Amino acid sequence: MTRVPGGDGFAGLGFDTRAIHVGQPPDPATGAVVTPIYQTSTFAHEEVGRHRGYEYSRSANPTRTALEACLASLEGARHGFCFASGMAAEDAILRRVVRAGGHLLIPHDAYGGTYRLLARVLEADFTPVDLSDLAAVEAAWRPQTAMVWVESPTNPLLSIVDIAAVAELAHARGAACVVDNTFATPWLQRPLALGADAVVHSATKYLGGHSDVIGGFVACDDDDLAESVGFVQRAAGAVPSPFDCFLVLRGVKTLGVRMERHCANAERIVDLLAGHAAVVDIRYPGLPSHPGHAVAARQMRAFGAMVSFSVAGGEEAALAVVAATGVFTLAESLGGVESLIEHPARMTHASVVGSPLEVDPGLIRISVGIEDADDLVADLGQALDRLAPA
Ligand code: PLP
Repeated sequence: MTRVPGGDGFAGLGFDTRAIHVGQPPDPATGAVVTPIYQTSTFAHEEVGRHRGYEYSRSANPTRTALEACLASLEGARHGFCFASGMAAEDAILRRVVRAGGHLLIPHDAYGGTYRLLARVLEADFTPVDLSDLAAVEAAWRPQTAMVWVESPTNPLLSIVDIAAVAELAHARGAACVVDNTFATPWLQRPLALGADAVVHSATKYLGGHSDVIGGFVACDDDDLAESVGFVQRAAGAVPSPFDCFLVLRGVKTLGVRMERHCANAERIVDLLAGHAAVVDIRYPGLPSHPGHAVAARQMRAFGAMVSFSVAGGEEAALAVVAATGVFTLAESLGGVESLIEHPARMTHASVVGSPLEVDPGLIRISVGIEDADDLVADLGQALDRLAPA
């Protein structure tokens, strides 16, 4: 468990300054400016019962401590915990509710892996609901409902949930509100400041930012919740390696500048899609026509770089488009510097086929990278042009 020291010297400083410095002072042993990869499983004790704060790397490791402190600061949280993957982070926070017999509400278009974890691993009692509709949330509420699991924007439909309103509704009924902030990142949106109790991340995505590491993270303020998540982290042991922590820490230093470019490039791509005859439906919260646009404008700094859309011609046409790009790579995942394109129904969301979360087979999801915008527009444009009527 990592406590972000209240007087860490960086309180009140800007996002990028904290991303580069919090938890990362020059190495006390050598003066190394970059936090070393403490590639050790165990630590020497000076005598029985006396050590320098580290005993065994499953419990704590200095490279992981640096990352936990940095990410917690970016989320404005008192506690942060790193995990081996986003799913391990989700598991650490969800299993507490499930074991206590609690019922959960999740987005009706939640990330498929979250649905699979709840349905098939935790065998949880949960209800998918449109969290953008507060009346629907109230209608789905049960006396045992203990947690609302929020994604905003959601994966892959880019729906927007009013985090402050959902957190307020949950708290009024004695339940917790947890937000998967993977798509937004703390640069765009800080759920704890909006009233959420905890934040989870797939650090694999924008936090790492370079598609070279799998990782997860949980941030919260409440000491009891922190105690329980930290206990699962140490006792179940799904922890990231020191090298993986180093990679995420290196990535996070540029999160702000990357996000700025990601978002600007996404707007260029949305302009292309909006003007293309083959595109029938665009899901991007930056569009004034998006039903969640006003809420997104209020709770996010910008609108992110994930865009989903459908093309005329359904699944066959969607598969043709994802096969025809050159700069956009056909691959799962998102949030890296390189642009990716995928077909959710057959790729990232294949695990929810047949469930209430099944995705339209005509949908395409893109993760807009930070390449030159002109090249991205030209690449996706030529793939779409192949569909356009002659
Ligand atoms: N949450 C969201 C919104 C995701 O998109 C993903 C992965 O795609 C996860 C959680 C799971 O993260 P990981 O793949 O790092 O386990």
